[in-house]
Amino acid sequence: MANERSAEPTDERIGCKRVEFLARAGEAFDQMFGADGQNGLVTFQQREDRACQVGDELTRWLMAEHLELDPLGGASVEQDCPICGGPVRYESAGQAELELRQFQTRRGKIEYRRAAARCPRCRKIFFPA
Ligand SMILES: [Zn+2]
Repeated sequence: MANERSAEPTDERIGCKRVEFLARAGEAFDQMFGADGQNGLVTFQQREDRACQVGDELTRWLMAEHLELDPLGGASVEQDCPICGGPVRYESAGQAELELRQFQTRRGKIEYRRAAARCPRCRKIFFPA
């Protein structure tokens, strides 16, 4: 019964994410080292600022992508609307709507798309627990 939720092979999605991450890590490396190993960074402060900046970008990307792959984010919904109490039933993630969410992490703000449920009674959108 594993992975019955999605027709997309998880291995393939993870593989694509890894390729994208490695490309981003390569860009981060280049922003730090450039072609000459220094990239114009002279002081300790400049080196620290750049290292933190490119590292934080990678951290935020990892967080956002990890959240988007959360299987709970695409699961079927069977709960009562938290706003009006009406019943909400989705059989699959395909019936849900994708909403852009923002979240403040220790390394800055991230945005990610998450499956949301719309209550048929009050028409409000909520994120299934
Ligand atoms: Zn409702």
